[in-house]
Amino acid sequence: MTASPQNHAHADAAPALDFDAIIIGAGMSGMYQLYRLRELGMRVRVFEAGTGVGGTWYWNRYPGARFDSESYSYGYSFSRELLAEWNWSEHFAGQPETLRYLNYVADKFGLRDDIEFRCRVSSATWEETMRSWNVTLEDGRSFRARFLITAIGPLSAPIMPRIDGVDSFGGKSFHTARWPHQPVDFAGQRVAVIGTGATGVQTIQTIAGCVGSLTVFQRTPNWCAPLHNSKIDPETQEKIKAGYPEMFRRCQETFACFIHTPDPRGTFEVSDAEREAFFEKLYAEPGFGIWQGNFRDIVIDRKANAAVSEFVARKIRGRVRDQRVAEKLIPKNHGFGTRRVPLETRYYEVYNLPNVELVDITETPIQRITPAGIKTSDREFEFDIIIYATGFDAITGSFDRIDIRGVDSARLKDRWKRGPETYLGVMVDGFPNMTMLMGPHTALGNIPRSIEYNVDWVTGLLRYARENDLTRVEATANGVTEWTDHVRALGVGLLSNEVNSWMTGYNSNIEGKQTRIVARYSGSAPAYRARCDEVAANGYRELAQG
Ligand SMILES: Cc1cc2nc3c(=O)[nH]c(=O)nc-3n(C[C@H](O)[C@H](O)[C@H](O)COP(=O)(O)OP(=O)(O)OC[C@H]3O[C@@H](n4cnc5c(N)ncnc54)[C@H](O)[C@@H]3O)c2cc1C
Repeated sequence: MTASPQNHAHADAAPALDFDAIIIGAGMSGMYQLYRLRELGMRVRVFEAGTGVGGTWYWNRYPGARFDSESYSYGYSFSRELLAEWNWSEHFAGQPETLRYLNYVADKFGLRDDIEFRCRVSSATWEETMRSWNVTLEDGRSFRARFLITAIGPLSAPIMPRIDGVDSFGGKSFHTARWPHQPVDFAGQRVAVIGTGATGVQTIQTIAGCVGSLTVFQRTPNWCAPLHNSKIDPETQEKIKAGYPEMFRRCQETFACFIHTPDPRGTFEVSDAEREAFFEKLYAEPGFGIWQGNFRDIVIDRKANAAVSEFVARKIRGRVRDQRVAEKLIPKNHGFGTRRVPLETRYYEVYNLPNVELVDITETPIQRITPAGIKTSDREFEFDIIIYATGFDAITGSFDRIDIRGVDSARLKDRWKRGPETYLGVMVDGFPNMTMLMGPHTALGNIPRSIEYNVDWVTGLLRYARENDLTRVEATANGVTEWTDHVRALGVGLLSNEVNSWMTGYNSNIEGKQTRIVARYSGSAPAYRARCDEVAANGYRELAQG
């Protein structure tokens, strides 16, 4: 741990506490929060379950893992020096490059000094007499800190499918978010992939060309659109660097912090020909433009949504030779953009390869995993490798895995049984001095932009607490009710909230998660920030302070 003069000064003031703040998680959120709290001279310790920094980009080492955000819009913006030094090699960088970047950040700012790796936090208990959190690790050690900051990730708790016999399989099997650190050799192997979300799509398109055979088990097809990735040449690199201030300013203004923002026109305010040409243009452009930069009403108006869905369906039919397969790949139970849109690179063309088979498990359900492979209602398949691309217990999953107890030992998990209740997505009444980064009810979108805002807001609150000698700050019950009601109201009318997905907290693989909830803030990021700014500007009067 770094020992600065301020640290010692503060240590004298609060001898019983091990730290001023404990941060759980060393992904992008935890790393940046550590950086900011060290600036305040706070004694901070980060506990991270993995063996290195990076969170998402540390764990998700599956073949083809990469950004759907433009690399340069995803990186940290807080350090001009860092922006000048780092060169992204591709418009949408792959996971190895992003992990290198985050390690570079950790080295540059000496972050590792205050991070303990291989430390999974199992519980955190509020101690009223001490006005502190007692945080216990799986290895049995425990530490006290005035503040607890969760930076545990909206997509960091992997989920296996509820299928019998998983442990009986005789070959190799991997969950994409727990991929081995050594390369997996696919040559000549009979490979199964279960799951066709964003992760499954990236995995499938990457390994199809190097496996012996590939069988994809699909329950829900997703609407995928082309990524159009490319290398960044030196001239473009210079332009990107010179344009950083302008680009980050733009990301601050857009709805979801992407460089893309909805077109102000309605889908049917233009002629059929104009509409078709606009869809074509977006389909041919890199990144999330077709989702985030489309007509403003595609995610709220059923007819508008049907128009763009039909356009993308035509594209799929045009790219997949066997029309029976194409039909299986076209979603029928949700419209384009109402679930997270996976961006792809020749994904649909994979299904034209002779060694690839698509199994629709709504027609022929998987009955069990067997020692030799996978048995469906139709037949038994033999495999050497099974890849589980079954995603995450999203948003609240990593909270549920920690026994978090607030005032009077109330459990956060119980409190959120019927869906999360938060104040600004950052605090919960009954859980004083606990703040959440990228918790439920915050603006997600191009996530690092929200992370930087979230962290700066929390840092401002902790600075305020210190300057005013506060040892206890807590959201009020009223504040939580108001924010939670506001978040729920914002979700009304959004087609995405009528669909089962991780964004609505639905997961058929998790007991008790078959009811849709409003798990995320679906207003605009600028509106979110304006509300949080107002709270800070008013001296956090909406919080109970003591
Ligand atoms: C495959 C994939 C691709 C993505 N692509 C994009 C993209 O293109 N654009 C975008 O904006 N977002 C993307 N995301 C979302 C991504 O999660 C965020 O962008 C961002 O990395 C979140 O950072 P974080 O620090 O909040 O959480 P994470 O990166 O998830 O880090 C959380 C950390 O907390 C640790 N942790 C959790 N629980 C505990 C515990 N109990 N004890 C100790 N440590 C714990 C975890 O080990 C992890 O390291 C992607 C996510 C995935 C999975």
